[in-house]
Amino acid sequence: MTLDVAWAIGWVRLSAQTVTEHRQELIELDRQIGDGDHGENLFRGFSAVIAKLDALPAEPADIGEVLKLVATTLMSTVGGAAGPLYGTAYLRAAKATGVAQLDSQGVVALLEAALEGIVARGKATTGEKTMVDAWTPATEAAVAAADGGASPAEVLVAAADAARVGAEATIPLVATKGRASYLGERSAGHLDPGARSTELILRAAAQAAA
Ligand code: ADP
Ligand code: MG
Repeated sequence: MTLDVAWAIGWVRLSAQTVTEHRQELIELDRQIGDGDHGENLFRGFSAVIAKLDALPAEPADIGEVLKLVATTLMSTVGGAAGPLYGTAYLRAAKATGVAQLDSQGVVALLEAALEGIVARGKATTGEKTMVDAWTPATEAAVAAADGGASPAEVLVAAADAARVGAEATIPLVATKGRASYLGERSAGHLDPGARSTELILRAAAQAAA
């Protein structure tokens, strides 16, 4: 079993849906340790992505083309930290997936490229209470699943499950990167909004593959 362009389009549509459904939750999370715009930022960004997807004259040729559209749209419509971070993630992922079909190792390559993009852009490491704390275990779980012979869909479920655990594990952390770091010790006790949105987006990827 492999994933194709229809999966990529499904992923984008389910991402937009989940970001819309969780818009208020992400706003509340960001209100606690940031400026309260994360839900609005992602809602605006993914709404713009869907508008562009719907306006395409023809179906994109490969997965990379879909991810590139997401990247450029998020970069131009989402302000704050998350726009450039997710934008770079999708751009790197697009470069890693200029193909029509993805097998399990292809899914791993996509996730690894996205994480590399986020780290290149934001310079965060694990334990700093950012989306990196969800992306890193997700990518590690994907590698382990793919090496163990899992299907692409199973690899994505493993990634989403690990992202959830990673996101929950940001609660006790003190933020040392991004806006939440301004709070210092007071940032502890709250779930990082970007780690939560990462979990939602990776769950959408798994659902699109199911
Ligand atoms: P802003 O902080 O500019 O208001 P958002 O609220 O949209 O932007 O996004 C905040 C999220 O961005 C945080 O919850 C965190 O996960 C992520 N983030 C912030 N800075 C970094 C960084 N340097 N590296 C990785 N992720 C980061
Ligand atoms: Mg914010």
